[in-house]
Amino acid sequence: MPVYKAPVEDVMFLLNDVFPIERHNNLPGFADATTDVVEAILAEGAKLCEEVFAPLNRTGDIEGCTRNPDGSVTTPKGFKQAYEAYAAGGWMGLSVPEEFGGQGLPSLLNSIMQEFVSSSNLALGMYPGLTQGAIAALLVHGTEEQKRTYLPKMVEGAWTGTMNLTEPHCGTDLGMLKTKAVPNGDGSYAISGTKIFISAGEHDMAENIVHLVLARIEGAPAGTKGISLFVVPKFLVNQDGSVGERNGVSCGSLEHKMGIHGNSTCVMNYDGARGWIVGQENRGLNAMFVMMNEARLAVGVQGLAQSEVAYQNAVAYAKDRLQGRSLTGAKSPDKPADPIIVHPDVRRTLLSIKAFNEAARALVVWTGLNSDIAHRSSDETERLTADDYMGLMTPVVKGVLTDLGFDNAVKAQQMFGGHGYIEEWGMSQFVRDARIAMIYEGANGIQAMDLVGRKLGKDGGRAIMTFFNEVGAFCQENANDESLAAFIAPLQQGLGHLQQATMWFMQNAMAKPDNAGAGATDYMHLFGTVAMGYMWAKMAKAAQGRKAEGNGVAAKMDAKLLTGRFYMERMMPETGTRLARITTGADTTMALPVEAF
Ligand SMILES: Cc1cc2nc3c(=O)[nH]c(=O)nc-3n(C[C@H](O)[C@H](O)[C@H](O)COP(=O)(O)OP(=O)(O)OC[C@H]3O[C@@H](n4cnc5c(N)ncnc54)[C@H](O)[C@@H]3O)c2cc1C
Repeated sequence: MPVYKAPVEDVMFLLNDVFPIERHNNLPGFADATTDVVEAILAEGAKLCEEVFAPLNRTGDIEGCTRNPDGSVTTPKGFKQAYEAYAAGGWMGLSVPEEFGGQGLPSLLNSIMQEFVSSSNLALGMYPGLTQGAIAALLVHGTEEQKRTYLPKMVEGAWTGTMNLTEPHCGTDLGMLKTKAVPNGDGSYAISGTKIFISAGEHDMAENIVHLVLARIEGAPAGTKGISLFVVPKFLVNQDGSVGERNGVSCGSLEHKMGIHGNSTCVMNYDGARGWIVGQENRGLNAMFVMMNEARLAVGVQGLAQSEVAYQNAVAYAKDRLQGRSLTGAKSPDKPADPIIVHPDVRRTLLSIKAFNEAARALVVWTGLNSDIAHRSSDETERLTADDYMGLMTPVVKGVLTDLGFDNAVKAQQMFGGHGYIEEWGMSQFVRDARIAMIYEGANGIQAMDLVGRKLGKDGGRAIMTFFNEVGAFCQENANDESLAAFIAPLQQGLGHLQQATMWFMQNAMAKPDNAGAGATDYMHLFGTVAMGYMWAKMAKAAQGRKAEGNGVAAKMDAKLLTGRFYMERMMPETGTRLARITTGADTTMALPVEAF
């Protein structure tokens, strides 16, 4: 069976040494999050994931979900109990305000826990994950009554949440959506239409399911400007808060899909279901964006999570599997062959995954911290900068971490040779499960367009300029530190490539938008490579600071520094290739006539 150990120690290095969490104890919820408390919380979370979630990953994949003749859905054996253990542990409301039953802790901790959950069992983790997204949307846009009605139950885990955007004819282009909402005259609406691919749309884990549904009110304008958001519970809620009669929403069928078999992906039929508007009329996309942005970051974390668990299993295998001899002479002469980890090509593969995982985790922590500052700081300037970063980093975290998360799951599978292709080793499942993260929550091509088309130019380029200034200042401050030379020079070069690419878009994309479209994915990856390079430089600085410590710390810091140097030498140079691709423009890409494809 595949192994998994949550990387608590690595997270604590980030929270203690790289982005010291205690420096932020002026923010609401942070004073309670001392490093000791955080470590204890994460150790508990790790235990749940390693001992309860992970053992159900493969069985859930094999068994999948079943739709019963009455339209109910049964999840794989053990999922309900595991979900109940998650809810009982208070994980759902970790960062939800205390007035709604949560613990009010930094949302950063939630992002970290999402990694552990998604590594141990992605399909299972999506049930609470979607609920947390729905909670976030209701917290921002729900009425007081909606918050009182739904939030405590959702935070407790008694009710789960979903997001319903996609329809058969529209996924990316939501402006075409047809689901309609007709006023009932009593403040509620009758919602009718078909939604497809709805994750956790129906299941047996909770007593009620709270659907957040995009629909068009009769007579509303066409396109995205006529879409509203509605809360549509599976069971109507009585005055006293108890679960009442069944609403007109049901699961028509389940999709048979490539991965995440333990998660129910449903066709949802709305037949005059009663729903209540959330936020303003025709501003539904705006309200749904709260959930979508939360979900995009969470999906980025899913990419990292699959990369991490696949890596851990590849390392265990590479230390164990005996094939061939080391190029520099036998390393296990008492055995018939050396373990494959002696081979440079195997080490190159493993190190490229490890170097990504540690940098991506730092990026998630940095982004999570910015999210908390954006939502909780009383300093307006600080809030604005953090919010700018969130906007800028969301498509990068979603797109880059999931593209590379999938690539890394494939690389880790490769370490097993033919055995990686055989289901019982579990590597095939990591590859299959990782694939969806590149697609849902906005396919990655759309994330790249969001970054280049919307985020770069927003507020006169304020966010990207702040990023350039921050990384540039870091390079300058550490320019004379010999111990960081292997980090600063490549980072400076990568930053230069990113600045040139940004400038090239400014000069060439306005008049010719195809130039932006053709270069967007390369730009998103160029950005991700530099952002992770910055993370490595910061980690290297922190690791240098701790090298003198005893108790095995020095060896761990050396390992950090070596992994970081691998990133700088082997992965950072990609920025030059990306820049070269971007600046060729769109001419060749767009010249081929459609019939020539
Ligand atoms: C397992 C699973 C779970 C899901 N869960 C949910 C859920 O819970 N709720 C929900 O609402 N939806 C869910 N989805 C739907 C998912 O979010 C959509 O599939 C996704 O947004 C893409 O929409 P689409 O499939 O219609 O593809 P399309 O929009 O048809 O896109 C097809 C391809 O064209 C590209 N493309 C489209 N437009 C452009 C453009 N303007 N520029 C460049 N490229 C473009 C896209 O990048 C994509 O590669 C889920 C899907 C799956 C498979």
